[in-house]
Amino acid sequence: MSLLEISGVNKTFGGLKALDDVNLSVREGTVHAIIGPNGAGKSTLLNAIIGKLIPDNGTVTFNGEDIVGHKPHEINQAGISRVFQTPEIFGELSIMENMMIPLLAHRDGAFKMNPWKRSDDEADLIDKAHHFLDDVNLWGKKDTIAGSLSRGDKRRLELAMCLSQDPKLLLLDEPTAGMARADTNNTIDLLKQIASRGITMAIIEHDMHVVFSLAERISVLAQGHVIVEGTPEEIKVDPKVREAYLGGAEV
Ligand code: ADP
Ligand code: MG
Repeated sequence: MSLLEISGVNKTFGGLKALDDVNLSVREGTVHAIIGPNGAGKSTLLNAIIGKLIPDNGTVTFNGEDIVGHKPHEINQAGISRVFQTPEIFGELSIMENMMIPLLAHRDGAFKMNPWKRSDDEADLIDKAHHFLDDVNLWGKKDTIAGSLSRGDKRRLELAMCLSQDPKLLLLDEPTAGMARADTNNTIDLLKQIASRGITMAIIEHDMHVVFSLAERISVLAQGHVIVEGTPEEIKVDPKVREAYLGGAEV
């Protein structure tokens, strides 16, 4: 079954067609990469999925519902969690305090969360924090200030915060950007582990090592259009893909 279905999506900025009749389907339980040269329309497509921009026409269907026109927080609540290039964590707070933010938001609602509220479920919150931090190997560092962590550990913390929201689809925008090789490989391993639990992922990525390590399906965007979709093996040898990269901007 297709969890995310993008159909006939167009977006024009001034005279420029940033998205040109984009069709893309992410099947439930798979890791789907969206690749393409600079300026291909990847970020625009991501923004159209998460509700940061509204396409000129076409449909974006998530879990059977058209989400075009919905607000970003509604789309997030519907089950789409996103991870941006720069980890979105609070650098001045500890790992544990960061982890409490999504857990409290889940308990109280994002706009009325009250960290000072004492309640019977406090032990339950700590149990949950333990569970999600253990999952990403950060429980042992729970009192460390998040800002002092390596890029890879920051990403681990952010992923733990995302996973605590129980997402149906994890959208990742260059999750290893700016990382050293060891952190990149570490992140690949963690993402593999998350994918193996059946969480669907759509990943926008420049680094082909990351793409080929994770993706089961790949859609190649060039000049706003999906020029090819296929398995990694098919994409590797497709002449259209080569031409898109060689004829355009850097990979
Ligand atoms: P990618 O993420 O693949 O590098 P983008 O989606 O950022 O590509 O951009 C696709 C095209 O749309 C580019 O030519 C870019 O300059 C243009 N573009 C993106 N956002 C805007 C905007 N807000 N206003 C005008 N042009 C934009
Ligand atoms: Mg971009």
